[in-house]
Amino acid sequence: MPTLDTFASLYPDVPPSVMLKVDLLRHGVRLGLAPVGSRHYHHHDEQGQKPVDPRAHLEGSVILPDGTTVFVTHNANSPYTVVIDPESKHLSLREGDGGEFICKLTPGPRFSWTKERTARQTPMAAVFSPSLGGVCGPIAAFLLRYCEFVKENEECLFCSWVRMGKSHELRPDVGDLRESLAAIWKEHQAIGYLAFSGGSLLNRTKEADAFLKYMEAVCETGLPLPATVAAIQALDKPDSKRLREAGFDYACYSMEVWDEAAWQAVLPGKSRSVGRTGWMQCLGDAVEVFGSGKVLCNFVAGVETVVPGLYSSPESAADATLAGMRWCYENGIYPKYAVWVAPGGAIFSQREPAPLAYYAHFLKGRQELFAEFPMAIPATDCPHCLTQSCEADLARLDRRYSLGPATSSAWKDRHAAAHVAVS
Ligand code: SF4
Repeated sequence: MPTLDTFASLYPDVPPSVMLKVDLLRHGVRLGLAPVGSRHYHHHDEQGQKPVDPRAHLEGSVILPDGTTVFVTHNANSPYTVVIDPESKHLSLREGDGGEFICKLTPGPRFSWTKERTARQTPMAAVFSPSLGGVCGPIAAFLLRYCEFVKENEECLFCSWVRMGKSHELRPDVGDLRESLAAIWKEHQAIGYLAFSGGSLLNRTKEADAFLKYMEAVCETGLPLPATVAAIQALDKPDSKRLREAGFDYACYSMEVWDEAAWQAVLPGKSRSVGRTGWMQCLGDAVEVFGSGKVLCNFVAGVETVVPGLYSSPESAADATLAGMRWCYENGIYPKYAVWVAPGGAIFSQREPAPLAYYAHFLKGRQELFAEFPMAIPATDCPHCLTQSCEADLARLDRRYSLGPATSSAWKDRHAAAHVAVS
């Protein structure tokens, strides 16, 4: 039976293209020669990049025929392949060794600035990265690109990029930032959001220092900024205040998994350093600083299913994470999720992805929370840039999931699609 029909018959409560999105996320795709994605600099320079298959450094998105945008990375073992027709140059998604046709694809944006260099010869794509293939042109500045938890083998077990090489440059260069951001504005004419992220230090005040330094440098460029978010380890209240005073619109302190046992198993470093209770305290304190709805908390949906004996079924694992999201809402925190992308070099990359039954249950439960809690969707989220989660797709494609602040009309006029220069 064709793939989409199979999804429709197995999971009748979820649009089949959304289940396809989840499956593409959990497995990645074989990119072949298809013109998808841009080179992603895992570190600040070219020397830092390990000489692996160059496709391992590609990140981007594809758009399904109904407009659903999906983040993609290359996985040589994925059952899915993106194929380009040599004559028409059209892309299609195919499955299995026989290459069974699933659907046509439109490639996500590939911005010309990502191939340019600054006057100092820094690749602009090492200064800012297109964030998760978002069609509205969101960008990320990765600051530390180094995680101290790796030293003791205590990194988060789903985190794929901390072992991909060594970073050299930690200080922002205002000239590089100005040239790159100016080139981005000139080409995109729209930027969905600017996220500051990347790496962790045991000394979280020192980690916050890097975010402040970068924000100061970005402000010094004198160029306009979209909504900004600091995706950083949970900070104590005085450091949250410093972030807010530096001009960040949102702070994102991600719990990643909910239960204490899942914390111990999946986040060994964070469990030892801050601990789940300490993290939740920081989240609550940050709401006092940033305000209700301005503190975000991400969950890596599905990774908790890997913990042996913790949950009796995929559905009970999903319910646990939904309980975590409910706690967030009750405490003024906006809960986000990303489908767990298993392949890619993390310690858990050889594990089986979470079952689709998990997602069929989880996605419905997450939409139902929109009906219960009136908290506004953050300015950083839109249907174009939620490439790793399905809130906007479900609201758009199925009236049953167009609920509360996530009604389909609420998503409509969010970020504009970014313009792509023809190179
Ligand atoms: S997600 Fe975990 S392992 Fe990855 S950089 Fe952050 S703290 Fe380190």
